[in-house]
Amino acid sequence: MWAPPRCSRLASTLRAMTVRRPYSSNVARIKAPSAITCQLPRTRPSNRSIQCSAHYSAQAVQQTDPISQDLERTTTPDLSPIWLRDICPCEHCVDPSSGQKKFWTVDIPSDIQIKSHQTLPDGTHEYTWTHDLPNMPADHTTRIHPSTLPSTLAGPSLSSLPQRPWTASTLSLYSTSYESYLTSPTTFREALSALHRDGLIFLTSVPESESSVTSIAERIGPVRNTFYGFSWDVRSVPKARNVAYTSGHLGFHQDLLYMADPPRLQFLHCLRSSAAGGASLFTDAYRAVVELHDQDLTAFEDLARLRTTYHYVKEGKHYTQSRRTIEFDEQAGTVLEGIRDVNWSPPFQGPFTGLETEDDVARWHAAARKFRDLTEREGSVFERMMKPGECVIFDNKRVLHARTAFEPGDVGKERWLKGCYVDGDPYWSALRQLTK
Ligand SMILES: [Zn+2]
Repeated sequence: MWAPPRCSRLASTLRAMTVRRPYSSNVARIKAPSAITCQLPRTRPSNRSIQCSAHYSAQAVQQTDPISQDLERTTTPDLSPIWLRDICPCEHCVDPSSGQKKFWTVDIPSDIQIKSHQTLPDGTHEYTWTHDLPNMPADHTTRIHPSTLPSTLAGPSLSSLPQRPWTASTLSLYSTSYESYLTSPTTFREALSALHRDGLIFLTSVPESESSVTSIAERIGPVRNTFYGFSWDVRSVPKARNVAYTSGHLGFHQDLLYMADPPRLQFLHCLRSSAAGGASLFTDAYRAVVELHDQDLTAFEDLARLRTTYHYVKEGKHYTQSRRTIEFDEQAGTVLEGIRDVNWSPPFQGPFTGLETEDDVARWHAAARKFRDLTEREGSVFERMMKPGECVIFDNKRVLHARTAFEPGDVGKERWLKGCYVDGDPYWSALRQLTK
């Protein structure tokens, strides 16, 4: 099984971290030295992402019940009454139909105190309040079961879903039929899981219709509209406004990096294929980032620091964004987990801004060349001559795509792909359903 190497320069920092705490600072203040390494995570259901899963067991919740112990200690100053009052899930505090919070945290009186506390036989903690929020009923009672705390605090984590960097030889490509993807909830979950794992899946037996691609996309979420349209065509025709519309070789890139929020998923449905050329190429940028880190830490750090400008200046439009090639979270446990974003789109690169010194340009140039070489290194590129009826779905921010040049024999033969995009938010929302 592939195991991402640890970032050596992060190791000392990480050794000092017993557990990541993306939670309330009030929670972090709960100091019980013997249990500090995993108080809250221990209450998490076992199918959720946790930083200290080795310590978790369902029995532990019932028997040692650390969070219950914390809740029992509500008279100690360690547990903030404001924090506890804030997470009340009752119908006075959270609208049952909309799920929206009905009070503002800032309106909780600063001198609120727990008036009474009891633990019910099922483990639920029940609190009443002194100096509760105004307009609350006199008998307002907060009931919290420890098992509900993780979702109250952090929600399911996508980090529990595995990702697997690949090369062409290690990729076990997921493929399913259009019909099954749309109609079988089980298949849809499998497809989403594979899409998150590899950043690339294929659908087959897609109906020959210009609306098929948006039907596929909308199974995940709303289609992203851009100036290319709700859906758009990639055809082998001359005089196009985008390099993707011409017939030459198109190198590895991501789409729309010149926009503030580039689309996350790209869908391409093949309606007509050429005879010989025009194959679709894919390479895993996450794999290239991990390899760059292993092979040349200086180049990795340069690409995590220096910004590249992407732009679209044409036809009365002027889009531009400046991005680091590697957006990296140094607090993560592994290089793979630390990758927040990869930005690589040479065809849409604009003049450098904020990178004027000779040293910075030389550093960027050397590092970017190494990264480019890794994305294209032998054995890494997955190539597919897409056939009519196939649709590829890929993560635009992870898997770079390219196209081979058309062959002379393709002259007069139309290659026609219909494409559309879906943003990250609906994709991540769909992925979170997999963690439940
Ligand atoms: Zn309440």
